Amino acid sequence: MEGGLIERTNAYKIVANDKKAGRLFHAYLLLDKDEKYLRSTLKRFAKLILCEKGGCGECRVCRLIEKESYADAVFFPKIGDKILTEDVNAIIEDSFVKPLEGDKKLFAVSGAQNMPAAAQNKLLKTLEEPPQNVILLLGASNPYALLPTVRSRVKTLEIPPFTDGEIVRALEKTCPDKEKLALAAACGDGTLGRAEELYGDEELEKLFDLTADIVVNMRSSRDVLKYSSLLMKNKERMGDVFSIASSLFRDMLAEKEGGRAIDPRAQERVRGAEGYTAGALVHALEKTEEAQKRAAAFNANETMLAEWWLFAILEGKHIWQK
Ligand SMILES: [Zn+2]
Repeated sequence: MEGGLIERTNAYKIVANDKKAGRLFHAYLLLDKDEKYLRSTLKRFAKLILCEKGGCGECRVCRLIEKESYADAVFFPKIGDKILTEDVNAIIEDSFVKPLEGDKKLFAVSGAQNMPAAAQNKLLKTLEEPPQNVILLLGASNPYALLPTVRSRVKTLEIPPFTDGEIVRALEKTCPDKEKLALAAACGDGTLGRAEELYGDEELEKLFDLTADIVVNMRSSRDVLKYSSLLMKNKERMGDVFSIASSLFRDMLAEKEGGRAIDPRAQERVRGAEGYTAGALVHALEKTEEAQKRAAAFNANETMLAEWWLFAILEGKHIWQK
């Protein structure tokens, strides 16, 4: 999928060090928001753990793991994307069977957050007293769906959100339209999966135009009414509007401070927007980030939020005049 993004994370380095020191844990929990790529990330770790060269990606073991057909690395769920009690039963039984090829046997569970509580309880015993040479690799997008008893018996590692730049570099081959990709990365949540989804999103361009229009033309309280009603036509996409706006404000601030913009086209679009001192931009950025958080709350009142945000932009311009 990409060149070395996973390999550069601390999570990966920690497991690499554990292996080098001969101190691999019997169970790891990998937290990764990117549900789409979770299974493929688990494969990276399986290769790291089982390949003699530490996950070269080229050898027979690595190639077989990639195809999920290496005898000592078993991936779950077997079918579909929900892990079932049968899957857990299979892990428990199979964990007593000696490795066939190497000296370790690995079980990888993708989407562990979907494991029913009963299945988690069953797995506890294996986590407490794992058969020798067995390694469990749990991958979850949300740790809180796992029982505390499970969480306390695994070594937890986190794949952090990636920067826009990292995402653009990772996806530029599969997503060749540069402007679209920059926008998708800026609006995403730091995962490749979400950026790819947004890259294919027809609405995103329109949202970009609306947001840029707001950033450039918010001048008076009359504009607040005009734009809040436009925003209400895109109620479901308010979160994306805020993401776009914060990336625009960030680029404007970067330009003011002589830095480099992440998205040159976006920077071009808002060039010449009036009334923004550096202070006003910092203010707008802070309020936009706050709006992002509020929009994510399930009981957010969109109209109030939109107006609050638009006024906050004006307010910043007013407070931070030259
Ligand atoms: Zn290899």
